[in-house]
Amino acid sequence: MVIKNVIRAVKNIYFGPSVTRMCPEVPTRLSDRFRGLQKLDKSKCIGCGICANTCPNNAIKIVKARVSPTSDKKRWFPSIDIGHCLFCGLCIDQCPHEALSSSKVYLTGIIRYDHCDLLFTPDMLAREVDIRAEKEAGKEVSRWTPQ
Ligand code: SF4
Ligand code: SF4
Repeated sequence: MVIKNVIRAVKNIYFGPSVTRMCPEVPTRLSDRFRGLQKLDKSKCIGCGICANTCPNNAIKIVKARVSPTSDKKRWFPSIDIGHCLFCGLCIDQCPHEALSSSKVYLTGIIRYDHCDLLFTPDMLAREVDIRAEKEAGKEVSRWTPQ
């Protein structure tokens, strides 16, 4: 019996189907209901703070940020500490203006070594900063962080 199992294991190692895949080179198939990084539509957000009050992990803060990259005018928007986010989707469900939505982004651009790099400013949530360009994002975070 033991020998049989060993033979099966060796066979699987050399001839069996692969059970792992390269990540992130080979993307994961995500379900339609998958909840990834939130996306913010600044034109719909009224800065009411309902999302922040709803968050069970207190991951959202309402901060001032530019209404657009080309404008100096500022308004209140949510920023999300992705390091504390459960991706439960309550902030999205409770937003009265559908300003927040869920994206399929869960890997590229949001895996960071330092917790401070997981503080997603309104500009990053609105994708006015290219979150895929890690190096650049580091610069942009400090440039855009409104505190
Ligand atoms: S994202 Fe929605 S709930 Fe949050 S501040 Fe903006 S409008 Fe209010
Ligand atoms: S998805 Fe859930 S945990 Fe994450 S910010 Fe929204 S309400 Fe908070």
